[in-house]
Amino acid sequence: MSPGMRFICRALTATLFVLLSQLSIADNDQLDIQTVNTGWSYHWGDVPYNGSWQMQTADWTPLDVFNDVPGRPKGTTILWIKLALPAGHWRDPYLFIDSVDLTIQAFEHEQLTYEFSHISLAGTSKFEGWPWHLVPVSSLDEPTEIYFRIFSDYAFIGLSGEVVIGEKSDLLQRVYKRGMAGMVFIVILFVAGILVTTLGIIKRERRIALSTGLLSFDLVIMMFAENELSQVVFNDPLMWRYLAAFSYFLVPFFLAIVVREWFTGVVKRIALLVCAITSVFILGVIFASYNFGVSFINAYSIFDGLFILLVLSLLVGCFFRRAPLGFQDGLVIFGILALFLSLLADMFSAYNFLFWISHAGQWGLVFFTLAMLTVYLAKDRDQQINLNLLMNSLEKQVEERTYELTESQKRLEQLAQEDFLTGLLNRRSFVQQSKRELANALRRHAPFALVLFDIDHFKSINDTYGHGVGDKVLEKIAAVTKRTSREGDLICRYGGEEFVILLPESDADATHTFVNRLHCALQDISLMANNGEKINITASIGVVTFENAPSNGTDNRIYPEVDKLLELMLSQADEAMYDVKNNGRNGIKERVF
Ligand code: GH3
Ligand code: MG
Ligand code: MG
Repeated sequence: MSPGMRFICRALTATLFVLLSQLSIADNDQLDIQTVNTGWSYHWGDVPYNGSWQMQTADWTPLDVFNDVPGRPKGTTILWIKLALPAGHWRDPYLFIDSVDLTIQAFEHEQLTYEFSHISLAGTSKFEGWPWHLVPVSSLDEPTEIYFRIFSDYAFIGLSGEVVIGEKSDLLQRVYKRGMAGMVFIVILFVAGILVTTLGIIKRERRIALSTGLLSFDLVIMMFAENELSQVVFNDPLMWRYLAAFSYFLVPFFLAIVVREWFTGVVKRIALLVCAITSVFILGVIFASYNFGVSFINAYSIFDGLFILLVLSLLVGCFFRRAPLGFQDGLVIFGILALFLSLLADMFSAYNFLFWISHAGQWGLVFFTLAMLTVYLAKDRDQQINLNLLMNSLEKQVEERTYELTESQKRLEQLAQEDFLTGLLNRRSFVQQSKRELANALRRHAPFALVLFDIDHFKSINDTYGHGVGDKVLEKIAAVTKRTSREGDLICRYGGEEFVILLPESDADATHTFVNRLHCALQDISLMANNGEKINITASIGVVTFENAPSNGTDNRIYPEVDKLLELMLSQADEAMYDVKNNGRNGIKERVF
């Protein structure tokens, strides 16, 4: 794991610890507060009004749990709830209400003590957001009754979440603590979103990274808008509600983009459909609220159903992909499942199906982001391993190629010096090497000789047996010459059927012996033509020996330059060879330079 990754892992672990410690602080033990579970009764529709509300004369039905008021008559938009509070010990008591559907007035001793969004006498009101409420209560020296007049044209009416009584400062502290715990989730989600995006971009998976990042940031906005602290940061519940609603509506959209980028097969098409449906839904809500005055809040209940349908179809689609599911795919699906379940839990608690689960949603979102982050870390690890493998095989390949290259370079150099047919030195390299030998010989006052021979009537061999046989003969001559010569002699194919040999350290006697041996060896070559005839080979040989005087100072000849010397020797050998030709071929002529 790279140092960057290790740092990220440590930072995340540390944040998780902080988060857990925050959660344990958030319990209510140290605070002097009480959940209000008893003393509730209700009345559907307005109670009589006679200059003031006639609450005492109305019929009140006892209510077990305040947030599940039964039997709402069709079209009723007003609900009255009565809360009989026993005497208490608080100096400055307040009621904390998690949430109200949708707007609320509170009365104590027939006095309006609290109002959120105005409710007219005629019982009309409009949605202003879903904040938490702090309703003042007069000192509880003796029992008192608090009346709530609640308006809603939404699917739900009443109080939701929980109602708690306590000192205002304690209740605010509790808001702060609960909010802070949520904030830790938000920070984790935000940091993880940035990490995923950055890592994805570094790893050149820009589209996956951006889609996951967008989903994370969308969830961050949704969570913060729904966090109790957002109200403290900026007291505009309606604005926060807009942000929360539209970021919630966008969750399936971004989720579908993530799935589309991640998976292959049929789920890609499902994801496209989910994107389309979500977009149409959002545009529809905006259109309806602009043109028909329909509150976007009513879209929630429709969207909740749609949400389950869309995300479930995405999840099912993920399992119907062509390739088998890998560890990383499994993680992504786990993340989506966690996200889905937590939003589902949140949704159910909002519908009162489930007991209010604190931070249920947040946990799922954190699981989702951690799953995505783990995927990236796993990818990083895989990439490191693959990179190492790649580097190793690359190194090996480079080694092999370098070896092959030097080998072929050597071979090329050799080829450049060789005669292609016989493998003897070619003219150019012979001249080069001969000059070196000549210079050495002159310096060391050593003798040397040059032997030049030409095959007699070679043209007729070609003409009689064909060019291929001619080639074979040339190869054979080269082999025989090589075999006859010493190590260190320079043997060259000088022209078509003309050969030249430089014999270093060879005086006239040694040269004489060698040339006669060569002459015989060439004559002895026995080659059969295809028709069974024996091919006879003879050569005309011209020889020049250069006898260096011993280095005792008695030699006062002036020697030509090495270049010139070689030229002269070659032409003298050539002349000697032609002498043989002119004298009937197949012979030797020896000269001394
Ligand atoms: P002479 O005794 O006067 O040297 O007669 P010659 O026929 O050997 O001489 P000439 O120079 O007229 O012919 C040389 C022939 O060698 C001509 C050419 O076709 C042949 N030759 C040259 N290079 C090659 C080769 O690489 N392969 C073959 N098969 N023949 C070659
Ligand atoms: Mg010739
Ligand atoms: Mg010839």
